[in-house]
Amino acid sequence: MCGVFGIFGHDEAANLTYLGLHALQHRGQESAGIISCDSGALKSWRQMGLVADVFTVPVLERLTGRAAIGHVRYSTAGVSHLKNAQPLMAEYVRGKLAVAHNGNLVNAQALKDELGASGAIFQSDADNEVIIHLIARSKETAFEARVVEALARVQGAYSLLFLTERELVAVRDPHGFRPLVLGRLKNSYVLASETTALDLIEAELIREIEPGEMVVIDSEGMRSSFPLQKARPGRCIFELVYFAKPDSSLFGLSVYDVRKQLGMQLARESPAAADLVIACPDSGVPAAIGYSQVSGIPYDVGLIRSHYVGRTFIEPRDSIRHFGVKLKLSAVRSVLKGKRVVVVDDSIVRGTTSRKIVKMLKAAGASEVHLRISSPPTRWPCYYGIDTPSRQELIASSHSIDEIARYVTADSLGYLSQEGLGAAAGDPEAKTFCRACFTGEYLTEGLSPTAGR
Ligand code: AMP
Repeated sequence: MCGVFGIFGHDEAANLTYLGLHALQHRGQESAGIISCDSGALKSWRQMGLVADVFTVPVLERLTGRAAIGHVRYSTAGVSHLKNAQPLMAEYVRGKLAVAHNGNLVNAQALKDELGASGAIFQSDADNEVIIHLIARSKETAFEARVVEALARVQGAYSLLFLTERELVAVRDPHGFRPLVLGRLKNSYVLASETTALDLIEAELIREIEPGEMVVIDSEGMRSSFPLQKARPGRCIFELVYFAKPDSSLFGLSVYDVRKQLGMQLARESPAAADLVIACPDSGVPAAIGYSQVSGIPYDVGLIRSHYVGRTFIEPRDSIRHFGVKLKLSAVRSVLKGKRVVVVDDSIVRGTTSRKIVKMLKAAGASEVHLRISSPPTRWPCYYGIDTPSRQELIASSHSIDEIARYVTADSLGYLSQEGLGAAAGDPEAKTFCRACFTGEYLTEGLSPTAGR
């Protein structure tokens, strides 16, 4: 769970990267970083924290140059620590190199062990440091050829940006797990995890980077190639369900429209006798609106989300702790009192949030709470870049839907079917998607349903 942004050929490269990262903040709130390139010198700033806190005017003024890449991080590999903040930077025999990675490599540890055994020293736990080592060891002369040789050895999910003294290189893994789009701003090229970052800086969307595609941008212009071995498409369906920002268009689809369709389909598959449809904000909102439209049950705002609780929010004292979800969500009594309520959320992971929400709604006066989830049960951990707990902690991996309903104390519980999910995403059989978190069908070797953590 990370966001990447890059720009080549603009006088305001670092400032625009800052804005792009701000638009991608939902993809990672742990650390942020920008590396710019000015006449062959790479300039870097990386810190723990939100984009708006990490960068100040003096910091951005130091990040000079007409090319830059940036990253927001939410750790899926490696602990939350400054040494793992990206973009990573290195100097090797052919020059300086910066790398920003969204995804997760499934064979990073095996490669680390192998490289370590031959003397490599690692400075971070970030799995893309492996890629830097492989590039540095390559016998190829051209940078692009070194990247291809390195990537031939890694497996898993990667949407990568490389910045060197001469070029900006973007690569998307052959499955295309994580998104990556290409845009243009006047005479410069822009790359971003999601279109929302292009919209903010008023760049025009050219197209998505294709699965397995490598794009090189330098002073000569842009060129594209497909140097990696082809693989079955595996666009992450959970990006559409939960992760991406609703105003983005992703994999050629409007995230908002897909989420609304998910809710519409959910209403058809799992109706409820109720007076009111509410969303678990913010991620459940489009699906709740879709559910309301198809069911004819009015939509209203029964839960308010606080926008001031970050990941680092500290509860003040042990004796008054365990406010948990109440810090983030509060119930609107006047809306809920005496009402039979359908509450729509995008997913249940451990079940702890849902349980607290149901209790909160009942405490605020709801007479019945019918929980509807706009995706199938999450039964398998993601190894491709979405932060999920171990299999044992995923409540749906070991409990039936009735058991989960009892645990969360809902009067009824309904999930969307696999078919309904595929249909809403425009691919009923989900042949172009990875949906391993729902099915356990992992797309890379060595990960089978029984191999789940
Ligand atoms: P839980 O209490 O573990 O069941 O969490 C469920 C809530 O977490 C839902 O409201 C989801 O929107 C949200 N969610 C789903 N996937 C993730 C994730 N990978 N990281 C953080 N939150 C998530």
